Parts: sequence; structure tokens; C-alpha cells
Amino acid sequence: MPTQLNQPTIISNIEHYDDSFLHHGKEGLDAFQLQMQQVSTKLQQVFASADQPFVGKSHQTIRKEIEQMMDFSMNGSPLESVLDEIEDPILKNGIFVSHEKSMAHLHCPPLLPGIAADTIISALNQSMDSWDQSPAATYVEAELVHRLKEMACYPKEADGVFTTGGTQSNYMGILLARDAFCAEYWGVNVQQQGLPEGFQRLRILCSEEAHFTVKQAASQLGLGERAVVTVASDEKHQISLTRLEEALARLEKENALPFAIVGTCGTTDFGSIDPMAELAETARKHKIWLHIDAAFGGGLMLSHNHFQKLNGLNQADSMTIDFHKMFYQPISCGVFLVKDQTNFASLCHHADYLNPLKDDEEGILNLVNKSVQTTRRFDALKVYITLKTIGSRRLGNMIDSTLEMAKYAADYIAGKNEFEVENRDPELNTVVFQYQPSESRDYSSLNRRIQQEMLQQGKAVLAKTTINEKTFLKFTLLNPRTRREDIETVVGEIEKVGNTLVNGGFK
Ligand SMILES: *Cc1c(COP(=O)(O)O)cnc(C)c1O
Repeated sequence: MPTQLNQPTIISNIEHYDDSFLHHGKEGLDAFQLQMQQVSTKLQQVFASADQPFVGKSHQTIRKEIEQMMDFSMNGSPLESVLDEIEDPILKNGIFVSHEKSMAHLHCPPLLPGIAADTIISALNQSMDSWDQSPAATYVEAELVHRLKEMACYPKEADGVFTTGGTQSNYMGILLARDAFCAEYWGVNVQQQGLPEGFQRLRILCSEEAHFTVKQAASQLGLGERAVVTVASDEKHQISLTRLEEALARLEKENALPFAIVGTCGTTDFGSIDPMAELAETARKHKIWLHIDAAFGGGLMLSHNHFQKLNGLNQADSMTIDFHKMFYQPISCGVFLVKDQTNFASLCHHADYLNPLKDDEEGILNLVNKSVQTTRRFDALKVYITLKTIGSRRLGNMIDSTLEMAKYAADYIAGKNEFEVENRDPELNTVVFQYQPSESRDYSSLNRRIQQEMLQQGKAVLAKTTINEKTFLKFTLLNPRTRREDIETVVGEIEKVGNTLVNGGFK
């Protein structure tokens, strides 16, 4: 079969492509309208039939179904028939993140204007690296970054860039912190000269509940995961400031060089928020860069009732905010902000073909100068269109209602004898709990199995997590359409599934 694909073909001028691209001609425009309609019709059919968050099939079954889809013909087929073909194995076998009972991860239901904007982004296909590939889009992003800076209460010297999400933003924060420190301490330009002698002494501090991408960034930046010193968190799952001071004192004795503290505003499991103002004070005292990972909690910028939880965020030297979490945007969409824009210099490369120095002199804005990506999507448009259409009042209400729902869920579950809730007062919208039907023993494997059964039966998409070596169940309630009754039904199902397992002799 593959040999057939490799056969040389004579491209004759009888082939024509006008119906395959969106361009100013009628054929392209008509074809675009038709294909968009077909996609819309198919998605409507799929969503109309999605009365569960997941069809409930095993990974083996889905794998087989997908493997059977991999036949490609020389001549292709019309989109409509391909859409029919993929309907069951690809479309219907997905997780329906907009379903009220999809409550596992920080994986949000995308807002309709975000979906619409994503279509525009793909149709225009601007590339954000150089101004001559995104003449208007460049300024939309720049202006939006300016607005986001204001929303984060950052000074005017601040700047930022859209990213693929928290992983990339955290990487950038630690990269800029490392380079600033090496310049200051050793007078070394890491971009030019690489890591200075003695770099093994460099350290990053964060709480034990910080996101794994802190360690990942350390390893990718040539420092190794060993450069990350994790500090214990307290009973509220926030970094312990006493332990942090102890760790700093110890590092000083060991002649190590702590150059960054990474605080978390919204940990993945508990949504807990490190005391950011206090972290900023510590960082200032020790002359250390403070990066705040607000991938999750940054959404509170739009909250009406919980905005004050972001107190201290603006004192960070850099921050991560994701829009594909609490801002209801389609993946991927995030921003990295830095308090002093001069730090971006350590990322900037001038390529003659793309962003020559001369452009800078002429005042041409090439956003590649601030990014670790080259070709880059116009994701800023999603945030722009969402803010314009939904408005910040409704967005704030959506966010606040999910926080209220988390509190309701925590109270409801805690009121049941067979359950234990780990966080009675959720800071954001996660609830961590365990099904414990009778005498106290380790129910880790039972809870693990419950999570799998619920998914297998398509009843609810829940998460599981491990705390002190015990497995817990987790709700991440990002969907403002999830109601109290949904919570009650899912908890009832968990009980039923758990009960059946225990009665069936599950240990
Ligand atoms: C989601 C998340 C990340 C990773 O971000 P991506 O957008 O998945 O790359 C990092 N930190 C925290 C706290 C997160 O919640």
C-alpha cells in the first residue's frame, strides 16, 4: 500500500484546487461555507446524542477502532463522508468536556465564542512570529497583553507573550530568572556563553505541591531536577514560610545559589494558593526572582467575589496564566507576563530572514523576540472575542458559580457517613474526597477502581489523586452548567458503584 503513495505522478494542468482553499473566488467561498455547514451539522448530531460525558469503552476497544481508521486512498473522499466515517470512532469516543458530569481535570468546557474564534484563527492562519505575517494580529496580541497586565495590576514596564500554556510559561519564567541571575552574579550571558562554571550551585525553591513542570523546566534548562528544592506545605496545602526560610538558610550554609522561588496560585489538586505577598517579601529579602504559577488561579482576575485571593500576585517578577482552564478557552491558550520587559532580551535572536535588527530600529514589532516559539498561533483572538462577546461580568459570574458549586459539593459529600473530604473549604473549584464505606482501613484500591468504573460506565469523568500515599477521588468543577443535582447524582453513583464492588468482595 505505501508504495502506491510513493508512485510519481504527472501533475497535469487539468487538476484544479480552487475548491480546496479559502480565497476570494466563488468556488473557494462556496466550498468553505459547505464544509463549515457539514462540520456544524455533524457536531450538532454528535453533541445531541452525547447524554453521557464518555461512551464508556475500554482503551483496548478504542485503540482497535482507531487502528481500523488508518486507510488512506489515493483519491480522497468528500469531507461529508469522512465526517460520517469518523463520527463513531473519533468524535463519539471523545471525552465530552462540556457535559455537566465531566469533572476530572483542569480541562474546561470551551465557550462558543472561543470555538468561533478558533475557526477564524485557523482560517486567517496568521503567524505571530513576525509583523509581516500578522500585521493586525501582532497588535491585537500586544494590546491584549497590555490589558492583561493591567488586570494583573502589573506596572507599565511589564510585558508578556501568549504561550501554549502553563508548561511553556513556567519554562519561560525559570529561564528568564536563570539568565538574570547568571548575568548579575557571574556577569555571564547564558544565551551567548552557556551556563557558567559553578552552575551546579543554582537552586529553585517551590512547595512540594508545585506543578511538575517546575522540575521539567529545571531539567530542560540544563540545571537538572536536582536543582529544585521542594519545601513542605502546611495543612492548608500552601507552602510553609517557616520551612522556606529554613531551606534558604540551609542552602546558604551549603554555599548553594537559590535564584528562583516558584509560588503556586492554584495547585492542581487542592487549588490552594501560596501566600504570595509573603513570598514576595522573602524573595525581595534574599534577592531572588519570584515566579508565580497562576495557570489555574489566574482565572480569578475576573472573579467578582474571590478577586482578593490574588493579593500579592502583582509583586511577582513573572507569572503564568492559562486561559484554557478557568477562562473557558479551547486548547491551547495561555500567557506569560514579566514585570520588567528588559528580561526578554535574553530570548531574542535576530534572524535576517525573519526579524532583522533593522526592524527594531524602524519600530516594527516582531513578537518572536519575546517567545520561545517561532511560528505561533493567534490565540489572543480567542480571549479578545470572549471578553467582547461574553463580557467580564458574565465571565466573572461563571467563575464564581463554579467556586460556589465546589463549596456545595464539599459540604454535601462531608455530610455523608461513607465519605471523607480532604478540603472542606475549597480555595478554588476542586474537591478531594474518598469513599470509605465502613471501618477505617486503606481504601486506595477501592477508590481507584471506582474512578475507573465510573469512566467505564460513562457515568461521570472523575479524577483520582494520591495524597500521603492514599488514593482519593477528585472533582474539578469548571463547568458553570454543573448543578447541585449533578453533584448529588454523581455522588450517589459513586456510592452505588463502591457498594457493589465491596459486596462483590473487592478488597
Ligand atoms: C495546568 C497547569 C500547568 C501546566 O499547564 P499546561 O497549560 O497544561 O501546559 C502548570 N501549572 C499548573 C498549576 C497547572 O494547573
